[in-house]
Amino acid sequence: MASNQNILNFINGEYTEGTLGKTWENICPLDGEIISRVHEAGKAEVDAAVRAAHRALNGPWGKMSPQDRADTLYRVADGITARFDEFLKAEIADTGKPSSLASHIDIPRGAANFKIFADVIRSIGAEFFETVTPDGQEAINYAVRRPKGVIGVICPWNLPLLLMTWKVGPALACGNTVIVKPSEETPTTATLLGEVMNDAGVPEGVYNVVHGFGPGSAGEMLTQHPSVDAITFTGETATGEAIMKNAAVGVRDVSFELGGKNPAIIYGDCDFDATVDGMSRAVFANCGQVCLNTERVYVERPIYNDFVEALKAKAESFKRGDPFDKATNQGPLISQEHRDKVLGYYERGNNDAKVVTGGGVPDMDGAYGKGSWVEPTIWTDLEEDHPNVAEEIFGPCCHIRPFDKDEEAVELANNSPYGLATSIWTQDIKRANVTARSVNVGITWVNCWFLRDLRTPFGGSKQSGIGREGGQHSLEFYTEMTNVCVKL
Ligand code: NAD
Repeated sequence: MASNQNILNFINGEYTEGTLGKTWENICPLDGEIISRVHEAGKAEVDAAVRAAHRALNGPWGKMSPQDRADTLYRVADGITARFDEFLKAEIADTGKPSSLASHIDIPRGAANFKIFADVIRSIGAEFFETVTPDGQEAINYAVRRPKGVIGVICPWNLPLLLMTWKVGPALACGNTVIVKPSEETPTTATLLGEVMNDAGVPEGVYNVVHGFGPGSAGEMLTQHPSVDAITFTGETATGEAIMKNAAVGVRDVSFELGGKNPAIIYGDCDFDATVDGMSRAVFANCGQVCLNTERVYVERPIYNDFVEALKAKAESFKRGDPFDKATNQGPLISQEHRDKVLGYYERGNNDAKVVTGGGVPDMDGAYGKGSWVEPTIWTDLEEDHPNVAEEIFGPCCHIRPFDKDEEAVELANNSPYGLATSIWTQDIKRANVTARSVNVGITWVNCWFLRDLRTPFGGSKQSGIGREGGQHSLEFYTEMTNVCVKL
């Protein structure tokens, strides 16, 4: 997938190399080829983006009616759809993920994220109270929602367009302006979106993109900038902690979607085949690089052996290779660096666990031999405090353990500093609901995984996040409420 494309910063409606004069090579994880050179933003570019965003906030975007904003965001969504293939190819080159996945999830959701929040903003009302005080004064109170201001949006690499627009969509719908810092691994679709914004008539300065890394680079500069009013971040918990420290200066608000070590609870009375299908996706989709992926599987003892065998068969059935081949359903990991991290866990597993399947690197033909591929891997027989069971790996792997009692499964599931998502598999509706209310996570699926309705609250408990986004819940972060009290 070699190319000599230049990826530029997008500030105030224009593409710019920036003043640093530094670039880095963007590598395709399928084959290790250089696909582009990314121009790094320095302090001058971050400052310029923040100034542009404030001008737009106080200018045309801030003055636009919610109805016109919503119409504009519909045009953005349509612009993504019109250039579907370009976005698809760019996302595949950056991430290596198969077209079978990206064409169904990443790109359509990238467009849908603008429409859903345009619809939300068209339909919100205001809170209203008629007030009579004990001494007989009468007033009306109503609470209006105003934009929060200039929002810093810091994104990960696993679902680049999807997760970025999941934040940019509601931020813009609420009347804010944004500065996006995409992951250094996946800069392309955020950059391409600048063209779509211009074509859709989004005023200059509303959507800005600065490229760079975390500490000492654009990511940190953005979170330290005193004129950035709030920061929304998706990524690792440790990065969230660093960002929160910076946001504390000036008491700026944060919304965090962080790491996970998600458990699944599989009861003996589940629909076995449907559960194995669902768990195959829950563990291995996107090569295990979705924050919602399951890495801890707890199975009721009577079906434990059968389940382990059935998931093993699924793990061994994945087809790797050409991402545009419709049959391909496993891509590589995002980078050689991430592969080294995942292979570290594989090595520990090879030493300490019973390896049901995988544990290494698959043989790949031709150019794919230089890609960052790993085998889907299943372990059993590890203790709960083993790093492979306790830490987020972010690869196509899981540990499976049997249990005997419902309470034991819940206790095991809750035994983690994370609390992002779980799935529960049973045909007993009471059991499903009792368990769903007992597992301390932000998102619970029953007899499914990653079935999303964008109006629902999304986010994690414990160290998996702060706040909920989705539908009306996004308004809590992206707007400030002002109460107006009018004496009659
Ligand atoms: P990461 O934390 O390494 O990087 C995310 C972004 O933060 C990148 O753009 C990076 O450049 C930037 N960054 C890094 N250090 C920074 C700093 N000090 N200040 C400002 N910015 C900084 O995460 P990643 O490796 O890109 O993504 C994988 C992680 O994201 C996993 O832990 C996964 O669970 C998590 N994730 C969570 C969700 C969710 O919804 N909860 C969704 C997707 C991914």
